[in-house]
Formats: sequence, structure tokens, C-alpha cells
Amino acid sequence: MAISIQERVSQVAGLIPTQVPQLINGSWVKSASLVSIPVTNPATQAVLTNTPCATQDEMVAAVESAQRAFESWKDVPVPQRARMMLKYQALLKEHHDELATLLAMETGKTFEDAKGDVWRGIEVAEHACNISSLMMGETVGNVARNIDCSSWIQPMGVFAGITPFNFPAMIPLWMFPMAIACGNTFILKPSEQDPLTPNRLAELFLEAGFPKDVLQVVHGAKEQVDFLLHHPDIVGVSFVGSVPVGQHVYRTATDNLKRCQAFAGAKNHMVVMPDADKQQVINALKGAACGAAGQRCMAISVAVLVGEAANWADEIAAELATLKPGPFTDEEADFGPLISPQARERVTAIIEQAKEDGASCLVDGTQVEVTDYPNGNWVGATVFAKVTPEMGVYQQEIFGPVLCLVEANDLNDAIAMINRNPFGNGTSIFTGSGFAARDFQHRIKVGQVGVNVPIPVPLPFFSFTGWRGSFYGDQHAYGKQAVRFYTETKTVTSRWFEAGENVDANMTIALK
Ligand code: NAD
Repeated sequence: MAISIQERVSQVAGLIPTQVPQLINGSWVKSASLVSIPVTNPATQAVLTNTPCATQDEMVAAVESAQRAFESWKDVPVPQRARMMLKYQALLKEHHDELATLLAMETGKTFEDAKGDVWRGIEVAEHACNISSLMMGETVGNVARNIDCSSWIQPMGVFAGITPFNFPAMIPLWMFPMAIACGNTFILKPSEQDPLTPNRLAELFLEAGFPKDVLQVVHGAKEQVDFLLHHPDIVGVSFVGSVPVGQHVYRTATDNLKRCQAFAGAKNHMVVMPDADKQQVINALKGAACGAAGQRCMAISVAVLVGEAANWADEIAAELATLKPGPFTDEEADFGPLISPQARERVTAIIEQAKEDGASCLVDGTQVEVTDYPNGNWVGATVFAKVTPEMGVYQQEIFGPVLCLVEANDLNDAIAMINRNPFGNGTSIFTGSGFAARDFQHRIKVGQVGVNVPIPVPLPFFSFTGWRGSFYGDQHAYGKQAVRFYTETKTVTSRWFEAGENVDANMTIALK
């Protein structure tokens, strides 16, 4: 029998503590810290719980425990690790709707969107079950007479993961299942704005039968992140978040000689060719620009209208104006509130500046109201036409339900504009021409390209491949690249002698 969202909320609400615990050395412990950050329902400002800022002692204990755990976890046979991961992905599926409810409560995402966040994470855990084949090395026999060479993929130690607020299930699940399946141990520092979902992911992880100390969860903000970036026992750092923090994390981690992958902000363009199907374009833009209130690193925030497609601006605006923000308990809502009052202020300031800069505001969401929710961080769908690359609204990542319409004479102009933009996370083209699509995908300097697909997030057997200002590092998230990021390759050259056979006087001769 289908359970209503209200019933789901009452099922999980009773389980929410006043302060989120940390998972250190296999136990859920209340932080001794006197500093904490309130976690609020973004539709009401009601305080759901508090995120503690871990003390120095707690941070030290988490790293020491993860370091000890690594010594035995690295030797657990790979198929056994895979079997635990199979149990974990089954548990995640079993608790899918409960996780989505918790996630909707703390992020304000619609229930459908929250389910997507959980599901895209489960897919990575599912992929991590394949770790036995993913960790296969390579062998060449007889590289010299009677000498064989093989490569072995081995875990490295303790990794840290620092995650953003906007995907509190999917992004932690990009990281720790792959890192731990590879034989490492992991310290997760989730966003302080929505820590309940990551904590629940970790509870289920323990329930799946993993040794209690291979995953540690610490809470906090800059100070706790900086501790991890400087600790000598952390071998590598996975980060997802904003540009300035991503640059700080990448610089500090690598300065401390750690491996680092840092996924940062974005400004994703959709090219609309005049031969595209207009209604398909409009439907795609509604979801891609305003879904999750635009708080997605793969959201489309710029539509490049090529040639005659510039005439579609009013129709695009009219349809986006029909989208309704609302609380996650409203099944009719198209998207939820922004995460915080500060985020709302930031987005409305960018909108006001765009008006002053001369962009033509076709739909203005700054005054939107949601019945019975006067305190929510609401911003309605907003559409600007006649935007130029010189305007702030074009240059900044807005992270709100704001779509900029820019014009281009032809596909060459559109490609040149996108390639000049400092970001390179995602892009798409809507067209009826195979030639235009192929030309675009070949020449565009963006890591994830959709052809008649607005948000081309790759499935976990590929990797999440942002480029340029959207990513610092070289090995990306999940897929084969994640295995390379979380492991070292060891190459072994070996020769076995027959009884009585002597070593060559000069081994280099044998290797020739
Ligand atoms: P954020 O940078 O504010 O926070 C990310 C993490 O860094 C959090 O855990 C936070 O506690 C920590 N942090 C914050 N300030 C810090 C500081 N000064 N020093 C050290 N650590 C600090 O990001 P956010 O607002 O939570 O997330 C939104 C951003 O994340 C957007 O820019 C979005 O594009 C980006 N994002 C990128 C991707 C991607 O794959 N490229 C995916 C999701 C989100």
C-alpha cells in the first residue's frame, strides 16, 4: 500500500536527534564540541537538528582509527569486500524512500527529486560491487627470456571526502563505496547544512557488515576540513563544492603531497539549434534550469539560441513561468526552496544586478510567495533574455532557478562562446542534425556533453568528467578513473630459475 509523504515524515521525524552524532572508531558518539551549526527546514526555518564542529581530539581519533583499520581491511579478500558491498546496495534500495524523506526534509527538495538523489548514489554502490574485475591488473609474459611483468592494483590508506549540500546522498556515495571497495578506509566530512542523510548512509553501511571502523564520519566546516588537508596520515582527498573552496582544497592537499580530486562550480550551456523540436527544448529547459531550484552542478543556466531559435524566447519564458515552487510535502510542487536565507539573498542580488546591467527580465521570481510558507527561501523561476557574456548574471554560477537566454548567429559562435567560458562541467545541444551534433561534441571543451539530453550525467561505469574550471585534478569520480584515484599500481618483474641455473652476470642483457 502506498504511504503518503506525511506518513513517511512522521516515521523518520522521531529518529532525528537534537545534535547529529559522529561515527568515530566504530561508535556513534555525541561531540564534546560547544560549537554547532543549526540545520533548518528550508521551507520553514524550523530547526531540525544541529551539526557539531568536531573537536581536535575527535578529529585525531577518527584518523587514528581509520589508519589502524586500514592495516587489516587492505588484506580482506576482494570478493569478500564485494559481497559486503552487495549487501550495502541491497540495504540502500530497501531504505530508498526513507532516505529520500530524510533528504527532502533537510534540503527542501521535492520527494521525486530526493528519490533521484538517492538513486544516483545507489547506482555507484552497485558499481562498486564489481570491484573484483575493476581491480584487475595487467600481465605480459616473457618480456625478456623467462621474465614476466605484471601490474597490481593496491589500496593506499586513509582517504578523506568533503561533500557539498546539494546532493547529500549521491555525492558521499560517489566517494566512500569506491574508496572502501578498493581496500582503503575513509573519513567523510559531509556538508554541515544537511548531515542527516550522510549519517543514515553510514548507519546502513555498518548494518551491511563492514568492519566498524573502515568508515568514519566527522562533522564541521572549514576547521575540520583543514585538519584533514594537513594530516600526514590522509593519503588523498575527494572534494565536491564551490570554486573558491575547491581551489583551496586542491592547493592545500597537493601542497601537503596528497592526491586530490576537486569537483567545483559550473555554468552549463544548452545550445538550441533552429532545427530542434521546440517543445522538446522547452520541456528540457524546465527541468534542467529549475529542477532542484537550480541547485545542481549540472543545471542548465544558459540557453544559447542559435539563429531563428532566438524567436522562441517568449514561449520558453511563458512555460518556465508556470513552474511552481513549494515544500516537499506538496506533490504538485515543481521544485523546492533554496537551501538557506543567505543563498536566497545571494540569488536575488544577482537577479537585481542583471536588471540594472540591462538584461531583459521576462520572468521575475524574486517576489514569489508560497501559501502557508511565508518563511521559506523561495525564488521562483526567472528568465532573462538579451544576456551578454559581459554581464555578471552570465559570468557567475547562480545556483538558483534562473535561466539566461543568449543569442548566437550560428553553431560556430555558440561553440566559441562556450569554449571561452571558464567552466567546463556539462553542456548539451538540441538539434535535428546529426552533423551539427557530431561537430559540437567533437569541438566543445566541456567534459560532459548531451545530444538532445539536457543533463548528461554519466552512469557509474563511466566517470563524472568535468573539465577546466569545474575540476581540479586528473582522475574523476566513479568508474575506472575512481579506481585509479583510490589505488596505487605496482609493477612486478619476475624471473624463476630452474634448479642449478645461475643468475646472468649482467641482468640488463637478459632484459634487452
Ligand atoms: P561549499 O564549497 O560551500 O562547501 C563544500 C564543502 O566544503 C562543505 O563540506 C563545507 O563544509 C566545506 N567548506 C566550506 N567552506 C570551506 C572553507 N573555507 N575551507 C574548507 N572547507 C570548506 O559548497 P556548497 O555550497 O555546499 O555546494 C555547492 C557548490 O558545489 C556549487 O558551486 C556546485 O556547483 C558545486 N558542486 C559541484 C559538483 C561537481 O561535480 N562539479 C557537484 C555538486 C556540487
